[in-house]
Amino acid sequence: MPSYDYDLFTIGAGSGGVRASRLAAMYGARVGVAEEYRVGGTCVIRGCVPKKLLVYASEFGHAFEEAKGYGWTAGEVEFDWPRLIANKDDEIDRLNGIYIRNLKNAGADIFDTRAVLKDAHTVHLVKEGRDVTADKILIATGGAPWVDETVPGGSLAITSNEAFHLEKLPRHVVIAGGGYIAVEFACIFRGLGCEVCLVYRGEDILRYFDRDISVAVHRGLQRLGVRVITQAVFEKIEALDGDNKRVRLSTGVSIDCDLVFWAVGRKPATRGMGLEEAGVELTDKGAIKVNEWSQSSVENIYAVGDVTDRVNLTPVAIREGAAFAETVFNNKPTKMDYALIPSAVFSQPPVGSVGLPEHEARRAFKHIDIYKTDFRPMKNTLSGSEHRTMMKLVVDADTDRVLGCHIVGEGAPEMIQCLAIALRAGATKRDFDETCALHPTSAEELVTMREKFVPKM
Ligand code: NDP
Repeated sequence: MPSYDYDLFTIGAGSGGVRASRLAAMYGARVGVAEEYRVGGTCVIRGCVPKKLLVYASEFGHAFEEAKGYGWTAGEVEFDWPRLIANKDDEIDRLNGIYIRNLKNAGADIFDTRAVLKDAHTVHLVKEGRDVTADKILIATGGAPWVDETVPGGSLAITSNEAFHLEKLPRHVVIAGGGYIAVEFACIFRGLGCEVCLVYRGEDILRYFDRDISVAVHRGLQRLGVRVITQAVFEKIEALDGDNKRVRLSTGVSIDCDLVFWAVGRKPATRGMGLEEAGVELTDKGAIKVNEWSQSSVENIYAVGDVTDRVNLTPVAIREGAAFAETVFNNKPTKMDYALIPSAVFSQPPVGSVGLPEHEARRAFKHIDIYKTDFRPMKNTLSGSEHRTMMKLVVDADTDRVLGCHIVGEGAPEMIQCLAIALRAGATKRDFDETCALHPTSAEELVTMREKFVPKM
């Protein structure tokens, strides 16, 4: 058997790569990890974590106003963007340090460099100008924001990568896209006091969710004062004086603003890594093709997380990484289970969703019952907030099993995490009905919906 420098070499120290590397090292493997940017990856450094901190910041923008109905009078409030960004950066530095420590404590070597494959067992460390060899190689390089380079002036717009480091808060932001990032940043900027316009090419934003979620979030954005333009794309972006820009849309409308933001999806980070040369097959979207064990077309090369473009969510990458380490380094064959993955959109109000949307359930099952409710949550009676809460259960009428649960409203992501346990356990509508309500909460509506929803003809 040839001797290699490492049992495992991981390229990319994001959520999936770190999880896999730590576990493998804890199981006794000699592990090396290369990261070209910062250990922690998109989620920790320029994704979920800093995004959520900005979401918290933006919620205060509404809280001062809403507190009046509860008897509070706040003096002149001011918002300091550089202070928020500096505090956010301190927190991200702290987490980055923890990730580095955890990897080192597990016994992994970390290389602060871009790494490319030379062949199936050799990795070139670009900054160090040398090669290392490994028995197994794990690609966990994630993805990167995609921008539409065919749009003239497209490079005048930023992506989520830059949004976390803007020197000043913009006055007017125009965002392209109708997915997670577009909706979340529209709410963040609006909550911080910016004018926001969201431009979406289709009709229903968040179109891969249940349609009631799309509709509720669309209305929520409008209630926040976000201008939502559908059936439109950017045709051209022009630089005006200073920071100002003009966005020309396919509909003929022009919008002047000082920040343009691409949120039109992400692409797997597979370019220029020597993958094809090493024989690693890619999908037509440029993702690494893997089997159910996260194994690529080259036997000793594996891939987890967004670079495989399966379900692009942090907890999924973490579980894929763990399953890989269990299988390959702990002699415990483990496959990732993709059923009933809960997800959230941190809009205002936020979304929580698990299981099948109604349209998918209708395709897959013969008889579907729908239960849904839409109400003004108690907190908003005195606060004056116009926001509402929507809850929906999708039920297989033949077995009574709850197939999907979809919520838009305060606390939705927290509720959905717990509902995901119930759905995985196979909860039926009767189980929901027999569960005692907890009063007064919004979540009690989930166990008190009795009337089937009958669409108006
Ligand atoms: P999404 O895939 O969620 O949304 C992309 C949006 O861009 C869609 O509305 C899509 O339209 C639109 N779009 C795609 N191509 C074009 C184009 N050429 N012109 C105009 N519009 C276009 O991507 P995001 O960038 O929002 O997020 C990337 C990924 O990051 C997500 O898939 C998710 O996995 C992850 N993420 C998760 C979060 C969470 O869990 N809360 C938060 C942020 C990101 P259409 O719908 O018509 O295809």
